[in-house]
Amino acid sequence: MTQTLRTISKIVRGSATSDGAGVRLTRTIGSPVISYHDPFLLLDEFRSDDAADYIGGFPNHPHRGFEPVTYMLAGRMRHGDNKGHSGLLFPGSVQWMTAGSGIVHSEMPEQEDGLMWGFQLWVNLPASENMSAPRYQDIPAEQIPVVATDDVLNVKVLAVQFGTETGPVEAHHVDARYLDISSPEGGLFRHAVPAGYNAFLYPFEGSVASGGEVINRAELGLYDDGEAVEIKAHGGPARLLLIAGRPIGEQIARHGPFVMNT
Ligand code: MN
Repeated sequence: MTQTLRTISKIVRGSATSDGAGVRLTRTIGSPVISYHDPFLLLDEFRSDDAADYIGGFPNHPHRGFEPVTYMLAGRMRHGDNKGHSGLLFPGSVQWMTAGSGIVHSEMPEQEDGLMWGFQLWVNLPASENMSAPRYQDIPAEQIPVVATDDVLNVKVLAVQFGTETGPVEAHHVDARYLDISSPEGGLFRHAVPAGYNAFLYPFEGSVASGGEVINRAELGLYDDGEAVEIKAHGGPARLLLIAGRPIGEQIARHGPFVMNT
C-alpha cells in the first residue's frame, strides 16, 4: 500500500537574533512567525567563524520544563551546571538534556577562534513530566549510527529509528525523531513519519525539494500531515535536519527559559 506523502504547508525563513552573552543565532521555531510546533519550542542554528559572534557564550541561565538538545557540527562547547555535571561537546556529538524540575547551567565555547556551528532544539515535556528529575545524555559522535542508503545518502540517527539502526538517545518523555541527512545532488530520500506527528525539515547546506516546494538553506519547511516524506537534494549536494515528534496537545505557558503547561 502506498504511503501518503506529506506536502509542505509553510516555509519559515530563519531570523537573525542573539541570545546568551551576544551569541548570534538564526532562529526559526520560537520566533514570532512560528512560536510553537508541538512538541518543539525552539530551533536555533549558530554558525560563525568570527569569534566575536560566539565568544561570550551562554553564561549561567536556568531551564525548566523541557528538553534542550544541542547538536554540534564544528567547534567545542563546554557545559557545566549547578549540580556539578560538566561535559565537553565535540563536533558530531549531541547532548540531550532533560531540564525537568530545573537546572542552572552555562554553555561556553572552548575555543578562541575558528568555526563554531551547531543547533539547539527545545523539546517540550508533558505536564506530568515538568517536574521530573534533571537528566543528561551526552553522546559522542562515534556512538551516533550512520546509515548509507542506496542513493548514497548518509543519515546520522540521533534519536529513534532509521531502517535497522536505532539512535542512541533513550527513554526521553516525548517521541521525538532527529535525523541529519547528507545527500549528493539529485539524491532521493524517503522516510516514514507516523500520521499525526508534527514534522519539519531544515536544510543547512544547499537546497532541497520536498512536498511540492523548494526549501533553501536556513529555511524551515513545515509538513502537512501524512505517512511519509520524500526529499530530494536540489541544484547540488544538500544536508538537512529532519525532525518529527508526537504532539503533546497541551496548552503551554512560556516565560523565556521556563516552560510549563497550563
Ligand atoms: Mn542552555
